[in-house]
Amino acid sequence: MARTVFAGGQVYDGTTAAAAPGEVAVEDGRVVEVGTDLDGDERVDCAGGYVAPGFFDCHVHVTLDAPSLMRILETPFSLQFYSAAANLATTLRTGITTVRDAGGADLGIRTALERGMIPGPRLQVAITMLSQTGGHGDDWHVCGGDAPFMVTHPGRPSGLVDGPHAVRQRVRELVRAGADVIKVATTGGVLSPNDDPRHAHFRDDEIQEMVAEAHAAGIEVMAHAQGTEGIQAAVRNGVRSIEHGIYLDDETVDLMVQHGTWLVPTLHAPRAVIAAADAGVPIPRAAVEKAHQVAEAHVASVRLAHEAGVRIAMGTDCGVGPHGTNLEELGLMTEAGLSPRDALEATTGSAADLLGVGSDRGRIRPGQRADLVVVDGDPDDVRGLRERVRRVYLDGRLAHRADDATAATAADPTP
Ligand SMILES: [Zn+2]
Repeated sequence: MARTVFAGGQVYDGTTAAAAPGEVAVEDGRVVEVGTDLDGDERVDCAGGYVAPGFFDCHVHVTLDAPSLMRILETPFSLQFYSAAANLATTLRTGITTVRDAGGADLGIRTALERGMIPGPRLQVAITMLSQTGGHGDDWHVCGGDAPFMVTHPGRPSGLVDGPHAVRQRVRELVRAGADVIKVATTGGVLSPNDDPRHAHFRDDEIQEMVAEAHAAGIEVMAHAQGTEGIQAAVRNGVRSIEHGIYLDDETVDLMVQHGTWLVPTLHAPRAVIAAADAGVPIPRAAVEKAHQVAEAHVASVRLAHEAGVRIAMGTDCGVGPHGTNLEELGLMTEAGLSPRDALEATTGSAADLLGVGSDRGRIRPGQRADLVVVDGDPDDVRGLRERVRRVYLDGRLAHRADDATAATAADPTP
């Protein structure tokens, strides 16, 4: 078997350790050796840059292309599957080799990737989001009609549910449909019509039931949670990660540390909503106002959580923002007080642990899957990271080269 050596640059290993000059040998899709003066049949030149574990984004929506209900209403039903294929290809080219879809993508999309029918990162799917009546996933509008943000179909059952008994059945339906993780909204959100991000949704007995059912099926629960009360309810009932986590306080971050709960900030998302509205995308005024409200609070909360020692994994909510801009999140994380290396760890090793794949990938060490990126410049600088990704590898095989212009344009999605 051919043995490839990544040489001539630094190695960032996916932990908080400093990068150092070194080499990484890959054979049969796995890292086999990390060191210096390694032998190999082929050499990948990393001069002027570094090799790192392939990046993770723990919160994307690959079937979604813009936060505009008007646009969604004008989009043919099955176009979302083709969009997902285009968005996954874009995401892979940006250096992201594993994503978790927080609602939208179903088993068919994951299967297409696994069979190699479409290029893209490895994918975990939540399929849909459990929401209470009047919650973040309730598509009812005051006109009296439903305008679905994500229409239900056989692969994506409805997430609208109330009461512990009904919740139990709904989790079982999602497990049956192939969910890798259960997503719940324990607070309102920004883009939905009738809810407030500060309000707590679902009661303890309902959240407990979801977590118990998910655990029985060997999977975890992630919670869209923005307001403090709803975040605390998720944490004390065993949810593994708080998504967004806009309004954190001292008591809440202590509770998260105590329970070992992850925070997946999505600093990128409210900014993307504001930018889209400024660019003329028709977004309801209430949603834009909510986005402005949350943007600043979000940065302060990430800072608080990081200082308290809450485990952080990188997420963006891309789909709300444009796919392929994911790595901008790292720069935003450093504005919230993370060091560049903390931000990189959140995007590699920590994210792999959150997703339960840390023994397979997310770090550079012998035995790990050779999902790798070669990046220009220094790991202690994450600015402009997106433009610096030179090469992307899946299982040790080249999946993208930044200097291959034909590959880049062929798969670009239409806006
Ligand atoms: Zn989301």
